Amino acid sequence: MTLACLSPETGPLLEVRHIVKTYPARGARRVQAVSDVSFDLARGETLGIVGESGSGKSTLARALLALPHPDSGSVSLAGSPVLAVGKAHLRELRRQMQMVFQDPLSSLNPAQRVFDIVEMPLVAVGGYTRPERRRLAGEALASVGLDPARFGQRKPYEISGGQCQRVSIARALVLDPRLLVCDEPVSALDVSVQAQVLNLLEDIKDARALTLLFISHDLSVVRGISDRVMVMYLGKVCEIAPTQALYANPRHPYTATLLDAVPTLEPSRRSPSRPMVRGETPSPLNMPSGCRFRTRCPRAEARCAAEEPPLRALADGAAHQVACHFPLAGHAGVAGDASSARRHATLHGAGAELRVAAC
Ligand code: ADP
Ligand code: MG
Repeated sequence: MTLACLSPETGPLLEVRHIVKTYPARGARRVQAVSDVSFDLARGETLGIVGESGSGKSTLARALLALPHPDSGSVSLAGSPVLAVGKAHLRELRRQMQMVFQDPLSSLNPAQRVFDIVEMPLVAVGGYTRPERRRLAGEALASVGLDPARFGQRKPYEISGGQCQRVSIARALVLDPRLLVCDEPVSALDVSVQAQVLNLLEDIKDARALTLLFISHDLSVVRGISDRVMVMYLGKVCEIAPTQALYANPRHPYTATLLDAVPTLEPSRRSPSRPMVRGETPSPLNMPSGCRFRTRCPRAEARCAAEEPPLRALADGAAHQVACHFPLAGHAGVAGDASSARRHATLHGAGAELRVAAC
């Protein structure tokens, strides 16, 4: 996977700086959902975000689109600020940043027909005649592999889960955005349908020169589609790296734990030599001092409680950043991770076989 869609414009498409989002809880306490998260997204890139449930992935995704606004921090799209702007400006920016949600059925209005669902963003933005809306919705449906004549008049409960997710994607595409934020877009789908939808997203990304933020708790799904992967734990970024480097050579103990937990039939990967992680995830109402992972980390020392580790580039590669005082040792041979390529091919192979069968 390459950044082949880079446009002549320079600089990252998305710049995210110091995003903080808390939610009110009982008493005066607040849930620390996202705490000081910063990253860049290059034009044409797919950045995967992984982490256990509750690590702040969805909150971060929504904050980027001001759905709702974060408590603090800044986001800019192609150099234009997204937060702290007037409604008209935000509406224009939202045309360019669209979201696909996890549960296709519940994210679609059951009372509406497919055409009306896909036309909704055009109605919200305004300025389109009814025939124009119908034409653009038909094109968006066709681009996700759904025949508008066959599916346009149906309601969500009359089509399959995979088809519902295609409708969600068509709705996100109808305004021709530059950035697609996909929050667990295949997590609610059967494995065979997952592969089809992933293939579809990759095809669409290439055809439309899209930039993708792809969120999933499933590391094997993220691996296949992402150029880089960012790992979150309790609202913080632990590690961010090119996909091959992160999967072959995780440097944060939490990333290593997540990877060790992925079931595999490959004997060489089945018995990790790394020490096991202990204990439960702490409450987001009562975060550990210093490193948030240190209460479960087998490598933790006194410094981890006293001092929060900053996210910093490793000596062996600026693109690989880790927030750990005692990162795992790096090793050679990252680029030749054959198992990664094999798994990707398996997933895509399954999708290719099923592509004709309209999920
Ligand atoms: P993820 O998507 O990684 O599962 P979320 O962003 O949904 O994580 O949640 C991060 C934290 O914020 C969790 O502790 C969750 O319980 C809390 N949270 C999410 N949404 C709300 C809300 N609307 N009100 C209160 N707490 C919330
Ligand atoms: Mg979520």
